[in-house]
Amino acid sequence: MRILLVEDEKRLSNVVKKGLIEEGYAVDQAFDGSEGLYLAESETYDAIILDVMLPKMDGITVCRNLRQKKISTPVLMLTAKTRVEDRVAGFDVGADQYLGKPFAFVELKSRLQALLRRNLKDVESIFEIDDLTVDPLKHIVFRDGQLIELTPKEFAILELLMRHKGEVVTRTQITEHTWDYNFDSMSNVVDVFITTLRKKIDYKNKKKLIHTVHGVGYKIG
Ligand code: CA
Repeated sequence: MRILLVEDEKRLSNVVKKGLIEEGYAVDQAFDGSEGLYLAESETYDAIILDVMLPKMDGITVCRNLRQKKISTPVLMLTAKTRVEDRVAGFDVGADQYLGKPFAFVELKSRLQALLRRNLKDVESIFEIDDLTVDPLKHIVFRDGQLIELTPKEFAILELLMRHKGEVVTRTQITEHTWDYNFDSMSNVVDVFITTLRKKIDYKNKKKLIHTVHGVGYKIG
């Protein structure tokens, strides 16, 4: 599952991102409203976590713009304000869920899961290629009818590759989506994870699905 996180408080944003990545989500961050709107329009997300008080463009305006453009990605709104009218304004412009700050991460996680589950029938919920099946919501992978156990990071990488099946996914894309901001992109940790992923996905099968594109990255297909 790929999440867009629009939050201007860097520290909070990074904590939430880290928590979501540990749960196996891929996360893109935006730190103001216009950047958030731009990403929400140009990329595909399963959900958007949207702060109300944002520089450049507030969350209510971002959400209204998205809905006017018929982008129906579920929105979970975050705000420090507890006033009822802000909540009403959020729902009026098409937000799906509301969470008041401060919140516990588990609370955010469960709201997000509820939102994703509700939206499941509207989005492509299962990815398939050859005899490989990946269910992003249940975090389940099957190859040739066999259940494959993956760690959250392996799962996040596989999901990213599946979303771009047939296309090359660069190491930078992989690190941006599946590691937190402190990650040292010069290390070969991506290759290490790909190696373990290959062992689990491709090792026993004649047809190899994960391919190395030398000097660029990886692709599945
Ligand atoms: Ca804010």
